[in-house]
Formats: sequence, structure tokens, C-alpha cells
Amino acid sequence: MELLKERIRRDGRVRAGGVLKVDGFLNHQMDVELFAEIGKEFRRRFAEDEVTKILTIEASGIGIACLTAMAFHVPAVFAKKTQTKNIDAQVYSTQVESFTHGKTYDIIVSREYLQPSDRVLLIDDFLANGKALEGLARLVKDAGAALVGAGIVIEKGFQPGGDRLREDGIHLESLAIIDSMDEKTGEIRFR
Ligand code: 5GP
Repeated sequence: MELLKERIRRDGRVRAGGVLKVDGFLNHQMDVELFAEIGKEFRRRFAEDEVTKILTIEASGIGIACLTAMAFHVPAVFAKKTQTKNIDAQVYSTQVESFTHGKTYDIIVSREYLQPSDRVLLIDDFLANGKALEGLARLVKDAGAALVGAGIVIEKGFQPGGDRLREDGIHLESLAIIDSMDEKTGEIRFR
């Protein structure tokens, strides 16, 4: 998606450890008109999949998930992160290892909002090692729902998540795939 790549080139900041900061339009301040275009693009790419629900993970996926849900005319659900030791029976839960924070946490979704009849599209802002998406995919499986695929705004192609998920047969659509980033020059190369 050329509009998105241009925006990343203009406003993205390369940080140490292979981290891209896009706080000016995606992760802190949100350009909701760009989000609406992103939502329409996901709708175009998953047009034939009869999606009934968008599933993301809090917090940074929520904005994108909302505008995507609007394009599909379906509800958006976000998995909540929790510290609670006693996970109750009314929820699906799984553990996710965080790339940005380096720790493991539980994510939960109420059983009420993921039904066996659902056809679920996963949405997230970034794909790095793939742990967040894999966790969401496990929740969908536990619910007995169908996973139609995953839509990612920025995939870091130099990390293993994307290739692994594609090998696992997941229909993955990333709107911008970064092959390399140079923290000294700030140069970002796209696939
Ligand atoms: P994964 O589970 O694929 O390793 O990481 C995905 C999650 O980590 C995303 O939901 C995103 O919040 C965060 N993340 C991973 N890499 C980056 C990055 O380079 N920049 C930002 N802003 N977030 C990232």
C-alpha cells in the first residue's frame, strides 16, 4: 500500500534493536483517515471470506481494528491483557510473549464474543516474531471458530513471524513489509 509506505518513510523513526517508532500516525497519535484507507484495503483483500468478526489485541491494534470492522460492517473484539492468576471459565485464554516489553502475559476473550459460527479476521499493527498473532489464532481455535486470515499494517520481514505463519498456511496480508532498517542512517527498505 503505497500511501502507507510513503507515510512510514516520512514519519517512521528507526530505533535500536530493530524497533520502528510510528507514534505520529499509528501508535500514539492516530491518523484515522489513514486508518479508514487501511480498513478498506483489508476489506478488498479479504472480500471473499465472509468475515463476521475482527479480532485484535489491546492496545495498539484497537484503532486499526475499529476502522477495519467498519469497512466489513462487523463487530471488532479486542483480546484483553490480564495479570490475573485465576482465569475464569467464561473466557478463552492463552499466553503471549511480548516483543516490545520482553515479558509474558495472558490474553483473554469472553466466550460470549467468539462463537463457533464466527469467521474471524485477525488484525494487528505490527508483525515481528508472530507471538501476538499466534496467541490470537489459538483463541479462535479454542472457540471452534474459523480463522480466515490475518491483516497486518507493518510486517518486519527481517523477523521470523511472517514466514512462519505463511508456512503454517495462514492467509497473511501485510500492507507494508520492511526488509531492512538502518538505525544509523534511518533508511527503511521495503520488499
Ligand atoms: P510479535 O508478537 O509479532 O513479536 O510482535 C507484535 C507486537 O509487538 C505488535 O502488536 C506491536 O505492538 C509490537 N511491536 C513489534 N515490533 C514493533 C516495532 O518495531 N514497533 C512498534 N511500535 N511495535 C512493535
